[in-house]
Amino acid sequence: MLVKVILIFLCFMALIAFIGRALFPSALPPVLRKRQDPPRCNKCGRYLIGQKTCPCGGKAR
Ligand SMILES: [Zn+2]
Repeated sequence: MLVKVILIFLCFMALIAFIGRALFPSALPPVLRKRQDPPRCNKCGRYLIGQKTCPCGGKAR
């Protein structure tokens, strides 16, 4: 009996999580969110991986 209750509870939680994720994708913690674009130069649009400034003199967004 207790096992059944736990199973139902788990299913309920999974359902809530599923609905919540479908309705509010932005409410996810950053770890679970899709990775955002890497920083890019605000002048030439080059990807700046591991650096804050661009050879063209621009800065990362
Ligand atoms: Zn640049």
